[in-house]
Amino acid sequence: MRKTLRLGVMGGTFDPVHYGHLVTAEEALVQFNLDRVVFMPTGRPVRKTHRHVSSSEDRYLMTVIATASNPDFEVSRMEVDRPGDTYTVDTMTALRDTYGGRAELFFITGADAVREILTWKDAARFAGLCTFIAATRPGFELDSPAAGPESEARPAVETMEVPALAISSSDIQLRVRERRPLRYLLPEAVASYIHKNGLYGEPLAG
Ligand code: NAP
Repeated sequence: MRKTLRLGVMGGTFDPVHYGHLVTAEEALVQFNLDRVVFMPTGRPVRKTHRHVSSSEDRYLMTVIATASNPDFEVSRMEVDRPGDTYTVDTMTALRDTYGGRAELFFITGADAVREILTWKDAARFAGLCTFIAATRPGFELDSPAAGPESEARPAVETMEVPALAISSSDIQLRVRERRPLRYLLPEAVASYIHKNGLYGEPLAG
């Protein structure tokens, strides 16, 4: 009999991707016995209209560069290529349509984002689509997901402590602006991409 695929979907803006994200994906792979983890850079994040987000192509390419050496990691263009605002429920529905009952889906992301899931679009449908894996820093208490209009839906949420999540994309952006070191926070090839393309206020290299 064919085994059910255990597929992790690592959702994030990844602006930029860093070692905290890579360690999170690796931990999820091992702790939840996943077959592979697909990084899913958000196309147009719905909650970030008030602030600048790098282009989806830059964020996608940095994620490809960061994950290239790990055979258990892939990167999907699904959200980057889908027009309009990005809703996780659309992504998980598309994956469910693709795999049917042949895959069990796990959506991995930061605990701060998971707290809000009951307010996300079509929250009631998440319960049947996937299990959420909320990555937290040690000592962080994950409250129950904030209630939304469809609070009767209670998707399964597992938590996972990841010490490397002390690293954050916003701190890296600030470091670039202030010309402070990036070494050991993200793969060197991603740092080179940031410098070469003048992301986060960095003057263009060359
Ligand atoms: P965010 O609010 O920018 O991030 C919240 C926290 O979680 C930050 O500390 C962030 O750190 C961390 N984080 C984000 N992605 C992570 C990951 N994959 N692994 C570990 N930590 C992570 O979150 P976001 O990036 O906008 O959204 C996260 C995911 O939820 C995305 O896939 C997004 O599309 C989805 N989402 C969906 C809806 C919806 O469907 N309505 C609404 C909101 C979010 P860093 O800044 O260092 O990453």
